[in-house]
Amino acid sequence: MSEQQTYDVVCIGGGIAGLVTAARASELGLKVAVLERGAEEDYRCNSRYSGGVMHISYKDPALPKEELIKAIQEITDNYAAPDLVEAITQNCKRGLDWLQQQGARFLRVDPSMQRSDIGSRAWILAPVRPPVTQLEWKGRGADVTLKALERALLKGGGKVFRGTSASSLLMENGVCKGVAAKQGESNVDFRSRSVVVCDGGFQGNANLVKLHLSPAPAKLKQRGAGTGIGDGMRMAIEAGADITSLDGFYGHVLSLDAMENDMLWPYPQLDLVAAAGVLVDRSGKRFSDEGLGGVFMANIMARQQDPQGIFAVWDEVIWQDSGRAAAVPPNPTLERHGGTLRTANTIAELAVALGVDPAGLEKTVRDYNDAVTSNRLGTLSPARSAKRRKAEAIVKAPFYGAPACSGITYTMGGIRIDGQSRVLRPDRSPIPGLYAAGASTGGLEGGPCVGYVGGLMKGIVFGMLAAESIAGKR
Ligand SMILES: Cc1cc2nc3c(=O)[nH]c(=O)nc-3n(C[C@H](O)[C@H](O)[C@H](O)COP(=O)(O)OP(=O)(O)OC[C@H]3O[C@@H](n4cnc5c(N)ncnc54)[C@H](O)[C@@H]3O)c2cc1C
Repeated sequence: MSEQQTYDVVCIGGGIAGLVTAARASELGLKVAVLERGAEEDYRCNSRYSGGVMHISYKDPALPKEELIKAIQEITDNYAAPDLVEAITQNCKRGLDWLQQQGARFLRVDPSMQRSDIGSRAWILAPVRPPVTQLEWKGRGADVTLKALERALLKGGGKVFRGTSASSLLMENGVCKGVAAKQGESNVDFRSRSVVVCDGGFQGNANLVKLHLSPAPAKLKQRGAGTGIGDGMRMAIEAGADITSLDGFYGHVLSLDAMENDMLWPYPQLDLVAAAGVLVDRSGKRFSDEGLGGVFMANIMARQQDPQGIFAVWDEVIWQDSGRAAAVPPNPTLERHGGTLRTANTIAELAVALGVDPAGLEKTVRDYNDAVTSNRLGTLSPARSAKRRKAEAIVKAPFYGAPACSGITYTMGGIRIDGQSRVLRPDRSPIPGLYAAGASTGGLEGGPCVGYVGGLMKGIVFGMLAAESIAGKR
């Protein structure tokens, strides 16, 4: 026998998407509940772990809308659904302003002080995460912001149920009427006028990762809380929802040692050194377009039969330049925290030190250097672009190499929504009463070059729009 509770809105998941939806809905006068599987006061989620940098495809969300639209179209090769692009670019600045009214604080960094290689850091949730390698989130901007949102929600009469795992949607004649959940051993039905799925994606579900992203999920590094296990997507599919863009994730190239060494994730990333040089397999051959950057490389690495047999290779010039160009750069933090870094005066010696075929690596680096100097990068196989990152010749000793792995942060695909966060069926009609926001949704990010738009802004804007749509304000 199930206990029963009744609300206007029930949010599944208490990350940034769920708490923004809930706090905004409560502000608009609705009776709201958040169901959160994590039982602890500071339950883990990607939002809490995040660096708190607000951007739209690495651009300042306060830029004119047209610039932001162009940035998303470019990075996703026009893959992003136009109505979602319109919605996020139209509402991102409003979302940040609203977040400030709820108590979020931002460190504003003057654009002239920013390094172009790391994109916009114009808005960072304060207190800012210090530039250290390991997880460091307690009392930092994202953690503090989630707490502020929860306070705002409780003040408006809303509730957060920790230790409560949503298991299925209550559907009646195609209309969503609530959520069935588990609280310990008890079953509880949360009846509601609308449900918003905000469970954070499916990166923590090895079966789904294997189905869509990698033949060897256990060989990827979970570069986040791993709490998104695809429950929301499963429930939405059962309710008749369409799903989209499941073949891409937001992630980074990490040291292979990050698999075991917690001092080496979520930073430093090897993205910039790998993108300036080459990424090879054990035979010394390239297999991805490094010029498309770290998020793309992490995806292609994951798709390899052996995602742990991969090495980034670069030279002294790159090490002194790209190697230092990040808030937590691999030079010098990689070695300092126990990460493997091989150096040698010749490429053949480097190959031996890495356990890579020397003849293969020598040929790869020779062909690559020829292509860089003669400006024929497109003739390489696979072709190397300079779309997101410039290729640099690997010529100045010492040469460097590091075993690398793919760090998966969140899945970019999921439940198909429209510009009001309504969940759509395959025929693009909305399922009455069902909404989704944040990393559980698909259609904005991904595409052939795995375009990244921004996890926090996606959660904030589509959470806010879900609440406003439910309240009849849109
Ligand atoms: C290390 C790191 C750094 C990052 N830095 C940035 C950054 O600087 N800028 C940026 O834009 N993005 C960043 N991101 C990405 C960003 O954090 C995420 O995209 C975003 O926070 C996702 O929010 P969400 O609410 O959709 O999911 P989450 O924050 O993951 O929240 C989902 C919640 O749903 C809960 N849940 C799951 N299943 C159920 C269920 N069945 N029932 C009830 N609850 C459930 C989970 O426990 C979780 O608490 C970073 C991520 C990481 C890990």
